[in-house]
Amino acid sequence: MESEKIALVFATNNQNKVTEIRLVLTDRFEITTLKEAGIDIDIPEPHDTLEANATEKSTTIHQLTQKNCFSEDTGLEVFSLGGAPGVKSARYAGDGRNFQDNINLLLENLTGIENRNAQFRTVISLIWQNKEYLFEGICEGVIVQLQKGFDGFGYDPIFVPNGATKTFAEMTMIEKNTYSHRKKAMKKLIDFLSAI
Ligand code: IMP
Repeated sequence: MESEKIALVFATNNQNKVTEIRLVLTDRFEITTLKEAGIDIDIPEPHDTLEANATEKSTTIHQLTQKNCFSEDTGLEVFSLGGAPGVKSARYAGDGRNFQDNINLLLENLTGIENRNAQFRTVISLIWQNKEYLFEGICEGVIVQLQKGFDGFGYDPIFVPNGATKTFAEMTMIEKNTYSHRKKAMKKLIDFLSAI
């Protein structure tokens, strides 16, 4: 007998994240984006942890839709900078600044610092049958001196995951997913729901 489909609203407006996540899902999952659900809101990320922001996003969408849903929040944590930009990754260079401004500031702040080890950390908040579940995915790597590559988004052009020789921005999405923090967190969500 064919297993029942699992329908989830994905609480994001980031198309890159949607594409990355759709690549790792099996046929059993049916993901609806906010846009597809006709929801046009910019969900705030006011908290100082990835966990709290992920929870804020999923509960906001759950209240609006009353449907099973999930959100994710990701930060780039650079060890020699005390974990910055971390939860502030999107607005590291200030509100209204873009990916390139954030990269420039990070490279500037790492000038002369030898330890360039860092990790991307993703926290997924799933609301399934009115209960919340959190899943974490981590990808360790290094921040390179000069940005390289044009694919992906955010800090992808300056991050080389451990075990690779290219930045995320030089990889296809499928390659990125063999290392990716988001993919690891999604795998935990998929395993959890597949066992239900
Ligand atoms: P968000 O709050 O989860 O949307 O992510 C915060 C910021 O982290 C984004 O604006 C990006 O700059 C960065 N970011 C998140 N995920 C990735 C990734 O997979 N690669 C590169 N940068 C990312």
